[in-house]
Amino acid sequence: MKITFLGTGTSQGIPVIGSSHPVCLSKDKKDKRLRVSVLIELNGYSYLIDCGPDFRQQMLRCGCKKIDAILYTHEHSDHVMGLDDIRPFYFKQGDIPIYAHKRVIKSLKKRFDYIFKTVNKYPGAPTVSPYIIKNKPFVINNQEIIPIKLKHLDLQVFGFRCNDFAYLTDMKTIKDIEVEKLKNLKVLVVNALRMEPHYSHLNLEEALQFIKRVNPEKAYLTHISHMMGFHEDVEKVLPNNVFLAYDNLQITI
Ligand SMILES: [Zn+2]
Repeated sequence: MKITFLGTGTSQGIPVIGSSHPVCLSKDKKDKRLRVSVLIELNGYSYLIDCGPDFRQQMLRCGCKKIDAILYTHEHSDHVMGLDDIRPFYFKQGDIPIYAHKRVIKSLKKRFDYIFKTVNKYPGAPTVSPYIIKNKPFVINNQEIIPIKLKHLDLQVFGFRCNDFAYLTDMKTIKDIEVEKLKNLKVLVVNALRMEPHYSHLNLEEALQFIKRVNPEKAYLTHISHMMGFHEDVEKVLPNNVFLAYDNLQITI
């Protein structure tokens, strides 16, 4: 399984528009973060988790040739606003399967009504095949995916486990019963926004405590704000098996 971090930034990305914060002005490529998304390549299939506003740029950057499914964590703009740009994949492949909670599908239907239209549809608009997922394992192309229920303040969010890999973003809290699903992971990806506490995201300290509890072989932090500091400085204070993810990072599991 190959994982590509397409984006590792929080909702505004880094640099933030118009910001003169030192991290936003950094020359280090690892301090440039598009909105969060990962590409999972497994058994010849390519799965995308989330499809945010930087999707087009991310697809061009990683040279992705096909998308076999999009899995959505939740409906916030930084996770969904790239859907229109699936057009080149739709023209080549046909309807693109999307997997999400029914509330998220409802939100997508509202935001992208023309994509879900069945009559008098504009010919250039893409079409998706929506699959509603509940908090139960589901199968895509013979591959089992286990949803992990998280809370982002009061909003339900899904994380996903695929074999020994789990991807959790926009989490603030998680129930013990969901943590049980994260045993024996080789790689855990989890959000860590910044040093200071935040009402709907884990900060660095909370993320490190959570990683200790889950005890994966390795962990990568994502959904990072410029307030976290320079990539190079933060990496130095992390435990040996924990890393800050950065855009374009690829790992093989
Ligand atoms: Zn987010």
